[in-house]
Amino acid sequence: MTLSKKMGFKGNKAFLPTKNCFVCGREMTWRKSWAKNWENVKYCSEACRAQKSLARPHGVKL
Ligand SMILES: [Zn+2]
Repeated sequence: MTLSKKMGFKGNKAFLPTKNCFVCGREMTWRKSWAKNWENVKYCSEACRAQKSLARPHGVKL
């Protein structure tokens, strides 16, 4: 049990979903605090969220 737990932890990070910030294009890794609204997360930070109106229409789309 200990062994499988260790292996699971090691591969866990790579398994986490990621998406790119709409403003700066930086890759965001899934966070527990985003679990309930991961689908709606578009910005990596409050700073980017504040800049969304300044962002170009041609956002990063990955
Ligand atoms: Zn950002």
